[in-house]
Amino acid sequence: MSTLNCDLLVLGSGIAGQTAATHAAEAGLNVILAEKTAALGGSTVMSGGWFAFSGTEEQRAAGVDDSAELFLRDMQEVGEYRNDPALLHAYLDHQDETYRWLKEHGVVFREVEISSGQSAKRGHNTAITDVMATLHDQFAAAGGTTLLEHRATKLLTDADGRVTGTRLSGPKGDSEVTARFGVVLATGGFSRGTELLNIFAPGQLQAIPFGGRGNTGDGLRMAWKLGADMADMSFISGTYGSHPETGEVHELLTAYYVGAIIVNKGGRRFIDESLSYKTLGAAVLHEEDGLGVQIFDARVRALSHRGIPLKDMDTLEEKGHVFRADTLAELAELADVDPDTLEQTVARYNDVATRGGDDEVGRASLCNGVGELVPIEQAPFYAYPAKSLMTTTYCGVKTSAHAEVITVEGESIPGLYAIGEVVGGFHGAAYMTGSSLGKGAVFGLIVAQQAAQRAALAAHTPSGVGA
Ligand SMILES: Cc1cc2nc3c(=O)[nH]c(=O)nc-3n(C[C@H](O)[C@H](O)[C@H](O)COP(=O)(O)OP(=O)(O)OC[C@H]3O[C@@H](n4cnc5c(N)ncnc54)[C@H](O)[C@@H]3O)c2cc1C
Repeated sequence: MSTLNCDLLVLGSGIAGQTAATHAAEAGLNVILAEKTAALGGSTVMSGGWFAFSGTEEQRAAGVDDSAELFLRDMQEVGEYRNDPALLHAYLDHQDETYRWLKEHGVVFREVEISSGQSAKRGHNTAITDVMATLHDQFAAAGGTTLLEHRATKLLTDADGRVTGTRLSGPKGDSEVTARFGVVLATGGFSRGTELLNIFAPGQLQAIPFGGRGNTGDGLRMAWKLGADMADMSFISGTYGSHPETGEVHELLTAYYVGAIIVNKGGRRFIDESLSYKTLGAAVLHEEDGLGVQIFDARVRALSHRGIPLKDMDTLEEKGHVFRADTLAELAELADVDPDTLEQTVARYNDVATRGGDDEVGRASLCNGVGELVPIEQAPFYAYPAKSLMTTTYCGVKTSAHAEVITVEGESIPGLYAIGEVVGGFHGAAYMTGSSLGKGAVFGLIVAQQAAQRAALAAHTPSGVGA
């Protein structure tokens, strides 16, 4: 079996792995990036491209009042205080550096917007496929090696239990890679991992399967075998907001954060629409056909932003996925929703929006405590039928703030690191838009910096072996 040697072995080429690989290669390490599929980018290149950062130049230019303290509070509230504070603090301590590193590497944050779990406009939108292509080019330019269609199948350990490398299965058979300063699991979640979903969240198999084709939970399983602890496994939920005929192309709409309501086929609302779209994703599975129909009017429709994920109603209407009618009754017929009940539901909502009082599902804002309810009254009216999309799992191996994988006995596994969606404990019960691409980049940077430090230390020790 052939063997390759390197300083740092990164498994998985999404935002987490690519950030780690690029940064480490630029720091002078000999880095191998192994990717299971034939294409780079995993779920990252299918994503909406939103990064959550606070205190940025773009926020200041848009007059947004935000802070690390508010960011922390939002993360804890949306996560129901189940998140690991050490991971959250590591994110907040490194977000500015990461944001600047991304900009220095050519990333343009083209739009700042509020979204799931945020109480200030904190989502920074990027053209994510361009971001990933650029970071990979910079990795190659710094001398990094990429192995496509190389799936890590087994972690290699020495007699002391230190992870020294990985076995890879590739087009030409099996090979081994050894890494002096660490093996980094950046293998993403298991949104395509039917076996693991069956174990941890069988109810979620009703959601539309999505996410990177290679995201079946390999990294989680390999770390599990070595005794890794896990976190957040019970909070897996699809994301609400995708048309039932969503194919391979990203199609999530969050018209409810700017004024739509969500009704079931019976025409009734069933959840406070201002909550995290992961919470909505879990709730919609209990409705008939797993369907929730976003109902909005011309005022909301005018807020569409073509080309910007989550906000692009123009493209969805052109695709024939958004219905339009002059009256609510006609709209209900088109969308196969009970017409009488829909009219009554909208009338009650409009009454609360104009005169105040208690909303029937407890909604008091448009999005996570921000924005006043606005009546749905300006014709034409629109309906977007949507289901839960299994985009992400946001749970997995426990790590320290330095990305070391932690065992069930609370010890780190020497030589093994995990970053990105394969990690559990960061989000807690639900999810804030932008915090996953954000954490991939933040912890990618952290893990690369740590590896560079180990390499520097080893260069000054007689044995030359990393600590
Ligand atoms: C439709 C959609 C929209 C989203 N929008 C946003 C958003 O706007 N903002 C946000 O923050 N998050 C968003 N997310 C979530 C976010 O995209 C992911 O959580 C994030 O990209 C995960 O990054 P990652 O690097 O950890 O994993 P991935 O990007 O999934 O990369 C993991 C890679 O590892 C590879 N791999 C797996 N197993 C192995 C193995 N054994 N050996 C080698 N390679 C392996 C996979 O093939 C894959 O390429 C969205 C997700 C989806 C699907």
